Amino acid sequence: MRAAAFSTPGLENLKLVEAETPRPGPGEVLIRVKYAGVNPLDYNVVAGAVKASPMPHIPGSEFAGVVEEAGPGVTGVSRGDPVVVYNRLYCGHCRQCLTGWTQMCEVTGGGIIGIVTQGGYAEYAVVPAKNAVATRADLKEAATLPIGALTAWNMAYRASISPGEKVAVVGATGNVGIYAVQFAKLLGGEVYAISRRKAKVESILKSAGADAVLTPDEAKSAAPFDVVLDPTGSASWDLSFGVLGRGGRYVTAGALTGAEVRLDLRRLYGMQILVIGATGGRRADFNTVVRLLEAGRIKAFLHNVYPLADVRKALEELRSPERVGKVLIAP
Ligand SMILES: [Zn+2]
Repeated sequence: MRAAAFSTPGLENLKLVEAETPRPGPGEVLIRVKYAGVNPLDYNVVAGAVKASPMPHIPGSEFAGVVEEAGPGVTGVSRGDPVVVYNRLYCGHCRQCLTGWTQMCEVTGGGIIGIVTQGGYAEYAVVPAKNAVATRADLKEAATLPIGALTAWNMAYRASISPGEKVAVVGATGNVGIYAVQFAKLLGGEVYAISRRKAKVESILKSAGADAVLTPDEAKSAAPFDVVLDPTGSASWDLSFGVLGRGGRYVTAGALTGAEVRLDLRRLYGMQILVIGATGGRRADFNTVVRLLEAGRIKAFLHNVYPLADVRKALEELRSPERVGKVLIAP
C-alpha cells in the first residue's frame, strides 16, 4: 500500500513509500482510509516533538474510511461499513475506563492511534474494532471528529456550561475551536468567538453559532465571562484568565502556543475560578458527536483536501494564517 512515513523526525523526511498492507489480528479491523485529518498533533509527531513508534512511522491520528477486513472475533462492524475511528487505545475494564474516561485508561495510558501505532496517512490502517464507529455521515466530514470535535466536546462538557452563560472561545477558527463554538451554543451558552482575524472570519464563525465575534481587545471590554474555552496554550492565558468573572471556568486542552503560565492565586481563590484540564474525549462521547454530525446538529468546516502525495503541503498549510477549519488528506 502507499503510505506517508518517516524514519527520522522532520517534515522534510516524511516521504511517500510503498509499505506492507497490515492484516487485522483478533479483535481488529483493517480500514481503507478515505480521509485523514491534519492536526497540530500530527505535525508534532512528524517534527519529533511528540515521540512516535514504531519506526518507520506512519502518522495520522484522525481518520475515517471503510472496513476492508474484520479480524477474528470482531462483532459490531463488518466489511463494507463506513467508519470513523475513536483514536484512544483503551482496555475497557480499568477504573478509568469503567467510569467512562477511556482516554485516561490506566492500562494503555490513553495512547493515541497514529502515535503509539501506525496511523491513517496511508491507504490502509489497522485499529481495534471497538475503536471503529459505523456512521452514515459524509466521511469527509466524519474525519474531522476524532480530534477536533471530540476534544471540543470534552472541553464544553468539563466546563459544565449552563444555558444563558457567557462562553468565550479562544482560537475559534482552529480545528477544536470551531467545534467548541458549536457545542457551547448547543449547550445553551451565549457564545463569543475570539479571533484576531475578526473581519475575515466573522461570517463563518457566526454560521458556526457564535452570537458575536470579538477581537482580543473587544473580549476584554465584553468581560466578564462565565466560561473560557481555550485550546491554544499559554500565549492567550492572560487574556483568557483575565476575562473570567466570579465562579468562572477556564478550560485548556492544548499547549501549542506554550505550556507555562503565571497564575495569581489571589484572583483564583478570590473569584472562585476553576482551571480545568481536558484531553481528547470519552469513547461514549465519540458516539454522541458522530450522531450529532449525522443529525445535522453540528457541521464540519473544511478548508482544503490534499492527495496523499501532497501530505507535506497539507501539514504546512496547518500554519497558514488564511486557514479556517480543517485540512484533510485523501489517501
Ligand atoms: Zn482502561
